[in-house]
Amino acid sequence: MINLILFGPPGSGKGTQAARLVKRYGLVHISTGDLFRHEIGHSTPLGQQAKRYIEAGELVPDEVTIGMLRNKVEAHADAQGFIFDGFPRTVAQAQALDQLLAEKGTQVSALIALDVDEEEIVQRILKRGHTSGRPDDNDESIIRKRIAVYRRETEPVYAYYAAKGKAYKIDGIGTIEEIFARLCNVIDSLQPA
Ligand code: ADP
Repeated sequence: MINLILFGPPGSGKGTQAARLVKRYGLVHISTGDLFRHEIGHSTPLGQQAKRYIEAGELVPDEVTIGMLRNKVEAHADAQGFIFDGFPRTVAQAQALDQLLAEKGTQVSALIALDVDEEEIVQRILKRGHTSGRPDDNDESIIRKRIAVYRRETEPVYAYYAAKGKAYKIDGIGTIEEIFARLCNVIDSLQPA
């Protein structure tokens, strides 16, 4: 299996690249943000619980997120591997992911971080807000809050996997094709888990 964590701040291009990686490598894409938006769109109890955190630019509590992720992974028992996008966002989530994959006899192959500076991502998200219909993309103070939460809660996940020799960083500025090529270079150098 190849299990990838696509990592980087909000608006760094994870979703765009994940869609291409799915096609190239035949992996199952799991985006916790997309899963939450789906639940919110269907007004499920999980969606109602997540909505207020997301609209405030905060993280949904770990136990809620981890439970949802586990269900999704278990629904794809025959997957050749996964691309995790927007997960793990805390060290506790990373530990839960490692445990879940270990139960399945596999592990995280690599975390690949898209490196993009803060002003660029604020501009990208505001632009996306014109068409995404996402309330959390339309308010600059909420966007800055998400970035601050990322720095505080999520960035330590990079060090967690770096300590295991599994973290890679690539330049997230360039065309979609250029960034895709950089990602493929890293992935093609990995050994299957
Ligand atoms: P972006 O990468 O643009 O921030 P996402 O679609 O990944 O957007 O996530 C949108 C929101 O959903 C986050 O700001 C957060 O509130 C919530 N969310 C997504 N993934 C997680 C997670 N792993 N843990 C907690 N909250 C999450």
